[in-house]
Amino acid sequence: MNSVPSDRTESQALSIPPKVEEQYHSLEKAVKAGVPSANLEHIRAAFEYAFRAHGDQKRKSGEPYIIHPLAAAEIVAELGLDEESVIAALLHDCIEDTGATHLEIAHLFGNDVADIVEGVTKLTRVTYTSKEEEQMENFRKMLLAMASDIRVIIIKLADRLHNMRTLEYHTEQKQREKALETMEIYAPIAHRLGMQRLKWELEDLSIRYLDPIGYAAIAQELDKRKDQRTAFFETVQSRITERLAANGITCQVYGRIKHIYSIYRKMYSQNKSFEEVLDLYAFRVIVDSISDCYNVLGYIHEMYRPIPGHFKDYIGTPKPNMYQSLHTTVLGTEGIPFEVQIRTWEMHQTAEYGIAAHWKYKQGISTVGDEEKFAWIRRLLETQQESDAADFFKSLRTDMFSDEVFVFTPQGDVISLPAGSTPIDFAYNIHSAVGNSMTGAKVNGRIVPFTQILQNGDIVEVITSKSSKGPSRDWLKIVRSSEARNKIRQWFKREQREENIVLGREMFEAELKRQMLPTALVFSEEMLPRILKKLAYLSLDDLYAAIGYGGASAQKSVNKIRDEVRAAEKARKKEEPAPQTAPAAKPKPRSHPVNGVVVEGLDNCLVKFSRCCSPVPGDDIIGFITRGFGVSVHRKDCVNYLQSLNKPEEADRWIGVEWANNDSDTYTTTLHITAKERGGLVVDIASVVSAAKIRMTSFSARDIGDGLSTASVTLEVRNSTELTAVIHRISAVSGVTEVRRSDR
Ligand code: MN
Repeated sequence: MNSVPSDRTESQALSIPPKVEEQYHSLEKAVKAGVPSANLEHIRAAFEYAFRAHGDQKRKSGEPYIIHPLAAAEIVAELGLDEESVIAALLHDCIEDTGATHLEIAHLFGNDVADIVEGVTKLTRVTYTSKEEEQMENFRKMLLAMASDIRVIIIKLADRLHNMRTLEYHTEQKQREKALETMEIYAPIAHRLGMQRLKWELEDLSIRYLDPIGYAAIAQELDKRKDQRTAFFETVQSRITERLAANGITCQVYGRIKHIYSIYRKMYSQNKSFEEVLDLYAFRVIVDSISDCYNVLGYIHEMYRPIPGHFKDYIGTPKPNMYQSLHTTVLGTEGIPFEVQIRTWEMHQTAEYGIAAHWKYKQGISTVGDEEKFAWIRRLLETQQESDAADFFKSLRTDMFSDEVFVFTPQGDVISLPAGSTPIDFAYNIHSAVGNSMTGAKVNGRIVPFTQILQNGDIVEVITSKSSKGPSRDWLKIVRSSEARNKIRQWFKREQREENIVLGREMFEAELKRQMLPTALVFSEEMLPRILKKLAYLSLDDLYAAIGYGGASAQKSVNKIRDEVRAAEKARKKEEPAPQTAPAAKPKPRSHPVNGVVVEGLDNCLVKFSRCCSPVPGDDIIGFITRGFGVSVHRKDCVNYLQSLNKPEEADRWIGVEWANNDSDTYTTTLHITAKERGGLVVDIASVVSAAKIRMTSFSARDIGDGLSTASVTLEVRNSTELTAVIHRISAVSGVTEVRRSDR
């Protein structure tokens, strides 16, 4: 940073109250200790800028407002962050409270500082309402995702810590709100970043306001034991130190009481009395090497009896936030149980300051080995490869959730979506019904196009209408989440099944034609079941519907069955020559077909179709010479024909007939359907038939008990291929158990 501000600094003499000046000196001391590389002139300039900006603004306590940013900056300095972080902490409320701009801050203190200050401001504007656990987790992730620079989060934590320390001046309601938010959001974030010390203080301050009575009870118990405790600490401390020194291990031993909230949690979650909380007291033994840690453990267990089940090796298996230590709980000679945590100095820094600890080491990062020590931050933050070690920390980004975006519902719920999501993804995340009836969207109160990419922290509102025609197929190209895509496809699949069937049928048949496969053979009774099995569909309709909505491709489906159809075609051609030469030649003397049927040797005779079996073209047929009514045409599998063959007086009245090649006529036939009784059955069958473009001349249905019903449908079809297809379609209607042609 080159520019030292500013003309105003020199032109206007500042009258800084002694109390503020005192606070500033406290900050300066912390900076000298924690951030030795910082330029104190820059820090001073930032302080004076913030002092002017906040002017006469007061805190709830009545103190000048500047005390707060000074204190927050001091926490940041104590954490050992860098100069930019300290300056940004001093300025962190300037944009929100005093109208300072990014541009001005960037001009005076550099872009990084301005970006950090703006980042903190953005987090401050997010309002939080208490929700269930999943919501809180999303909220925490959102805050982390919104902070593009990890320093933003750390400054926000420092800001919150100071506000919590001075919460007493607020109303009780405000205290509870802030305490709850701290407990649910900020303490867990501190924990995630490994900043134990900060986390403990935030938790203790929160519980003090959330459960003042519970807090006071524990504080009182601890107070009662104060004298006893001091003596106890001294004894244990010196015993351990002496024992280890005698064995050539240099160490530091610290005694401390567990923080109040951890005692509180143990008491209430495990329903224990204060006395039953075993590890009220904890000692830390800090040594130089990992091997020393395990040696120390051995000595401790020699000196004190370990309590079974309380040993944990977080060195071998670090916690997710990279906390490392050996933990054991032992029984002291005085009968007082206590916990011992054994760790190296480096582990200690990480345990106390977490991610912030690594600023402390930054001068030391030069070798590959050192870089590896920080691999966990890389993993945690998924930061890009950074070759220059000095820039490493500056470039720490909180894009650990870069593949997710977090947005608000108008009710304040946080919704997590894949990065790049649009309002359509949001709508389908809420509910498929919301997506399906969506007609518009607002982001942060403004109408936006459906293609708008959502940003972290956006408040998204979906406009729906009952008269919406449903999603558009174009949406499939816009949406980012597979959830939305699936739900849109589902809609097309369900809502437009009939249309899809028609569309799919056209596409499938066109593809058959394109690949020059014989349509009649594909749909033949013999071939169709094999084809459906091969394509894994229960019915032809299902196949068509799948093609129609885009779930299956016509081309791929035809490709799959091509070889089988071609093989069947070849086989059929080999078989055919025989019947073609012999019987087909016989009725050659046909002259004029009547009703599409040529009767062997008879011209222009009256032809009618029997009602018993309603033959259609393609069926094998036979004619019966009636008395006075010409020739009645039956199917060769008609029961009446088969029975008649046994009656000598009728046997020679049967005469050969065959279909004329004429596709324009239609033939009436009746289907008998058995189905499980349900509402809408008739409509479903009727719509399947009409989707197949087949005319239905009559339809009757009745209940036959046992939850079953039968229906008779009379259809006009052109040929048996068409009939087979419609039978398959009807069979596929939900509830239908049997479809058969009438045979008598
Ligand atoms: Mn603040």
